Amino acid sequence: MWHLTEEQEMIQKTVRDWAAAKLAPQAERFEHEKHFSVELYKEFAALGFPGIRYPEALGGGDGGILDMCIWVKELARVLPGFAISASVACGLGAKMLGYGTEAQKERFLKPTVEGEMIGAFGLTEPNAGSDATNLETRAVRDGDDWVINGAKTFITNGNIADYILVSAKTDPSTKNAISIFIVPKDTPGMTTAPIDKNCWFSSDTALITFDNCRLPADALLGPLHGGLKLLTDNLNEGRVTYAAHCYGIAEGCFDGALEYVHQRTAFGQRIADFQNTQFKLAEMKMKLDLAWTYIMRAAAEVEANPDANVTASICKNYAAQISEEIAREARHLLGGYGCMNEYAVGRLSRDVFVAEVGEGTREINYRVIWKALTRKHT
Ligand SMILES: Cc1cc2nc3c(=O)[nH]c(=O)nc-3n(C[C@H](O)[C@H](O)[C@H](O)COP(=O)(O)OP(=O)(O)OC[C@H]3O[C@@H](n4cnc5c(N)ncnc54)[C@H](O)[C@@H]3O)c2cc1C
Repeated sequence: MWHLTEEQEMIQKTVRDWAAAKLAPQAERFEHEKHFSVELYKEFAALGFPGIRYPEALGGGDGGILDMCIWVKELARVLPGFAISASVACGLGAKMLGYGTEAQKERFLKPTVEGEMIGAFGLTEPNAGSDATNLETRAVRDGDDWVINGAKTFITNGNIADYILVSAKTDPSTKNAISIFIVPKDTPGMTTAPIDKNCWFSSDTALITFDNCRLPADALLGPLHGGLKLLTDNLNEGRVTYAAHCYGIAEGCFDGALEYVHQRTAFGQRIADFQNTQFKLAEMKMKLDLAWTYIMRAAAEVEANPDANVTASICKNYAAQISEEIAREARHLLGGYGCMNEYAVGRLSRDVFVAEVGEGTREINYRVIWKALTRKHT
């Protein structure tokens, strides 16, 4: 159980080789130009990985959560920004399309599974992040149409996506009356603008505004007022996959540091020969192995029971925590070179702060764990 299957070893090797050959040589350029390469994503997608979690009937690979975790971590250990945009392109939003009508699946989900389309999911707003039920975006019925007004912020792939799944209040008098709408790119009334951020330079992030954005009736995804269920049904899987992303960054930092300390010398010996270095790297390896073992457990548990929220929250929080710790130590072992773009460790460790923010902040995940702990006492 605690080993990858032959097929999973093959996924890992294929993505590792692809990332080394195609992604690593261009990583610094993408970071410098601050863009997500749609062209390279499509090249990656042609290998079939975006469809790994989807049924064969849709052109997918019928794979498990761990299969997706493997390709996500392999991309993240080289370029976390590219990895996050790639996993969002075919991740949470696309999974929600599984609740759609046959026509919606044919138009949006199938091309996403095939890597032809890129998806985005817009929940966060300028005044509503962790508290998703506080969102201000409204969708109002007008004849057969829906009219959306509001704004979404920090939306990964928002500027380049072929469609955005947008959450909106459909009954302002009820806190949980949220519905999901499929908004194709270039829909009049929707404007996207890039956001200048200090992490994940190789991913796309947008502020999206809706000004009387008119959509046909069939833009509604799933039941009216039923958006929160679509979201929560896929939340735990998203957290486990995101944990794999955090783990990938940590592994990339660890590998970079391990190599560096065997090359660099000081005071007449290799940095690797100082006992402090050995203990640090041993401690980092211990944390990595524990995080990966938990990811394997969580992937199996959430697959068997998508409501396994405590396991998913522990998984995400632990991977995020150790990725920050490992990135910090790895960077330190490189001394001044840890601050230079010449070494991947510097670039990777810059991307680690956001680990604690995505897929529920640290506190939101602790909240999930605490609620389960205290349930029988209330
Ligand atoms: C690069 C990037 C990409 C993103 N991509 C997407 C995307 O594609 N789609 C999308 O919808 N969103 C996206 N997000 C948004 C992300 O999901 C939110 O930033 C996150 O949910 C936190 O919301 P917030 O930033 O509004 O922080 P807030 O919710 O305002 O939180 C601020 C602080 O308060 C703490 N806090 C909040 N509530 C509690 C509580 N109950 N108890 C204790 N502490 C609490 C938080 O933990 C945090 O430390 C992205 C964010 C970033 C940075």
